[in-house]
Amino acid sequence: METTITTVVTGVEQVSPGFVRVRVTAPDTWVTTGAADEFIHVEVGAENMDAGDGHSSRHYSVSKVLSDGFEMEIALHGHGPGALWGQQVRPGDAVDVSEPKAYYAPPSAAHRRVLVGDATALPAIARILAEANPDERFSVVIELASLVDKRELPSAAEVSVEWRLGGNGYAPSVLCSELRSLLPGLRDADCEPYVWVACEAAESRRIRQSLRKEAGLPMASMRLVGYWHGDHDRIMSVWNSLSDEQLAYAQSIWREDRTDEENWVEYEPFLRSLGV
Ligand SMILES: Cc1cc2nc3c(=O)[nH]c(=O)nc-3n(C[C@H](O)[C@H](O)[C@H](O)COP(=O)(O)OP(=O)(O)OC[C@H]3O[C@@H](n4cnc5c(N)ncnc54)[C@H](O)[C@@H]3O)c2cc1C
Repeated sequence: METTITTVVTGVEQVSPGFVRVRVTAPDTWVTTGAADEFIHVEVGAENMDAGDGHSSRHYSVSKVLSDGFEMEIALHGHGPGALWGQQVRPGDAVDVSEPKAYYAPPSAAHRRVLVGDATALPAIARILAEANPDERFSVVIELASLVDKRELPSAAEVSVEWRLGGNGYAPSVLCSELRSLLPGLRDADCEPYVWVACEAAESRRIRQSLRKEAGLPMASMRLVGYWHGDHDRIMSVWNSLSDEQLAYAQSIWREDRTDEENWVEYEPFLRSLGV
């Protein structure tokens, strides 16, 4: 974590069988970005740092900003220190978090928005919809391991939500094919849709290729984020075996003067050349 801000848990509640909501109070040094998919690192005390890309913390979305802190929602996916932390955290616990960062930034012209994600994206999607304006139109696809975790998604905007069963480490994901089938009907004559995707990393890469090649969507109209790795151990073993030259190349690709989507143009073929 770059910065550490200590919060205190004030409430823990079961949202649905697969989700726990954790409410914390935060000091004034924790300041929201205002973006609806903002996320933080949460210190969950992971001992196996390999599993979290070398960190003992895990990423969680800020599902609601409160006057004295914020809430987050942990998917209880059954493995890993983050999911375990979500089951064990109790009111009164001190929790170290980072300052928030965010990805969701639709161009103001794009009133048509598409949100696609698995269970880990549900907290961010719920907040994006809760904070949307009445002139926005959303098509949403959410994939869950079990439909018992479906919930109401209140919004002032016009919203259509499709719930799908699959992915989430239990079954092949249908998100890429669902998004492809949505796209032909989404293009208004006068504005591109803005597409935001958050799910398992390999699936997010498949969707990126499809949006670029088949839908021809410009990079500024999409934001795709891999929220977790299904083949984590293999990726880590490939990554740990890279030569200094390969590591330096990887770092040189990810440039600050380009957007992340622009960086992915070079990053995707590099990852493929490594076999991941
Ligand atoms: C920007 C961002 C925002 C996120 N917001 C949220 C959020 O609001 N709520 C939330 O629950 N998660 C969220 N995530 C995803 C979460 O950070 C990952 O799922 C993380 O890997 C969980 O850590 P862990 O310690 O439980 O598992 P890890 O230690 O990372 O992994 C252990 C094992 O569990 C598997 N695994 C990890 N995550 C999942 C999963 N979701 N489903 C099935 N298997 C899994 C891995 O493949 C690995 O085999 C977000 C991620 C990012 C990048």
